[in-house]
Amino acid sequence: MSTTDELLKANERYAQSFKLGHLPMPPARKVAVLACMDARLTVESILGLETGDAHIIRNAGGIATEDALRSLLISHHLLGTQEFLIINHTDCGMLTFKSDDLLERLEKQTGTAVVAPACFHTFDDLESNVRGQIERVRSHPWVPRHIPVRGFIYDVKTGRLREVQPSARTVAA
Ligand SMILES: [Zn+2]
Repeated sequence: MSTTDELLKANERYAQSFKLGHLPMPPARKVAVLACMDARLTVESILGLETGDAHIIRNAGGIATEDALRSLLISHHLLGTQEFLIINHTDCGMLTFKSDDLLERLEKQTGTAVVAPACFHTFDDLESNVRGQIERVRSHPWVPRHIPVRGFIYDVKTGRLREVQPSARTVAA
């Protein structure tokens, strides 16, 4: 049995005792979280969130890519979220390779150049990466100034979140 087949069996069991069909679409806690896709990071457990509480947007690195921004804009403007959190974490895989190296390797391996992704958004420093993502979200002209955008580093060894102070330029803005 493939893992997918096992997961479908788990869903069968889940659906048998399902009681959340009444939940409305807008997140109850009015919050959106952008986090890395790392398998050790269970956003709901880390933050005490229940089904229906929050939007959780995930990608490799927890990067405010164009698509992550798209989701955050929908989250706020159409579904009423009022606070954004960005979560990166220690021991992130994105610290372990270089975007250009992987692009080059895959191009060689497959014999095909691609337009997208143009970049894998790797980074060398966690804190400055989180600051960069905060800045990208905050500076977007469609993200209202009153929306708090706070960034954190999750420690995969302790389960603890540490807040990253935004850069001075962002605070002053
Ligand atoms: Zn990661």
